[in-house]
Amino acid sequence: MNKYMKGLHSLTFLLLVIGGLNWLLVGLFQWGIGDLFGGDGAVVSRIIYVLVGLSAVYEVAIHKQSCKFCSKGDQM
Ligand SMILES: [Zn+2]
Repeated sequence: MNKYMKGLHSLTFLLLVIGGLNWLLVGLFQWGIGDLFGGDGAVVSRIIYVLVGLSAVYEVAIHKQSCKFCSKGDQM
């Protein structure tokens, strides 16, 4: 794994964590990260949501190579 891949993974992983914590906040307090930027409909909120979603797609795509459990358990 080269430096670019590592940086991209760190970034997308961080965004996924933010997305997950956002759902936690929404579930517990009905308050999400989007509310910081003017609500779910605001452009900044939507950009964050899109970035989180794209990070999920990227992490799913590279998951097999990066995950020691999945790369070993191919015979499943
Ligand atoms: Zn895995």
